[in-house]
Amino acid sequence: MNAPIYLDYAATTPVDPRVAEVMSQHLTLEGVFANPASRSHMPGWQAEQVVEGARRQVADLIGADPREIVWTSGATEADNLALTGFLRANRARGRHLVTSSIEHKAVIDTARALEAEGFDVTWLTPEKDGRISPARLDEAMRDDTVLVSLMAVNNELGTINDLAALAEVAHAHGSALHVDAAQAVGRIELDVTRQGIDLMSLSGHKAYGPKGIGALYVRRSPDIRVEALIHGGGHERGMRSGTLPTHQIAGMGEAFALAQAEGAADQTRIAALAQRFLDGLEDIGGVHRNTDIDASVPNIVNLAFDGVDGESLLMALRGIAVSTGSACNSASVEPSYVLKGIGVPRARALTSLRFSFGRFTTDADIDAAVAELRHALSALLHH
Ligand SMILES: *Cc1c(COP(=O)(O)O)cnc(C)c1O
Repeated sequence: MNAPIYLDYAATTPVDPRVAEVMSQHLTLEGVFANPASRSHMPGWQAEQVVEGARRQVADLIGADPREIVWTSGATEADNLALTGFLRANRARGRHLVTSSIEHKAVIDTARALEAEGFDVTWLTPEKDGRISPARLDEAMRDDTVLVSLMAVNNELGTINDLAALAEVAHAHGSALHVDAAQAVGRIELDVTRQGIDLMSLSGHKAYGPKGIGALYVRRSPDIRVEALIHGGGHERGMRSGTLPTHQIAGMGEAFALAQAEGAADQTRIAALAQRFLDGLEDIGGVHRNTDIDASVPNIVNLAFDGVDGESLLMALRGIAVSTGSACNSASVEPSYVLKGIGVPRARALTSLRFSFGRFTTDADIDAAVAELRHALSALLHH
């Protein structure tokens, strides 16, 4: 059997071969593999140079200074460090966090743990289109609000928040803004200065880099303080200890440089693929988009299929790899909390699938996926 066509880029992307090539130069004795913290020899200095080069590549993509980038194991850890680290460090100023009900679990579960620790959380409800309204954020702000955490691009819906408008509201109330941008790299423009972002979580593997590496952007001016969660050696200016994984970091740097150079062109091509996909399904009837196309990135298409069970459809679609709900909930059959969060009725949420396209998706992939979907739907609907 042929490998299924991969249409689950929002769960993870394959590593770009150019990234894999760079990573392979940082593993073996012949390569630059040493511990970047080794100050006593040339291999250590060379590894440090590689890490600092990658730090600049990541900083450049978001308009930051390299000194504002803290390496982590991924966006999950970056979210934990941003929320827990910031709230603990700023306890004396206030104990209130504002976030939303459709954030990634890395933010939601961290915020819940902080509630248990005695912090106060307000959970915003998104608009029907999946975006967070700056006016609603304004209403939720209090004198003791110190942090607002909202994502750039939603991983299930693809909806894009107006980060600059949200930052303006947060700052007007003396609060900092954290943004989970894991799904945004190479998909939308990111500029921490223009958008007024104070903390930003990034992931390697959502942008054609390796899994197991990410970063937290931490603004230096005005100074944003976060308390370390992982102790042991004081790496990353004391914010995150642990030996830096030279090969992972080199890979993430290369991936982000490619995202900066090619992201816009990728998105233009992918928008045409998404349109081809939707055109191919147009005459079927009973197919609905769960998101507003004008409010979303083109690479994520969340569809509901009237009268079909999402799990059965998924099972019938052997030739394409897609997701029901978000990747992180695919073990349970509960409808996606994100679809529920934007008011999609339970029955419709259960018929929904997320298709996500990427750099290596071709016209032929789309045509094969359309043919397979049409076949599966007609089988499920006529029996
Ligand atoms: C994938 C993802 C994460 C988690 O990132 P990891 O690097 O896998 O830990 C966090 N937030 C969003 C929005 C994501 O899509």
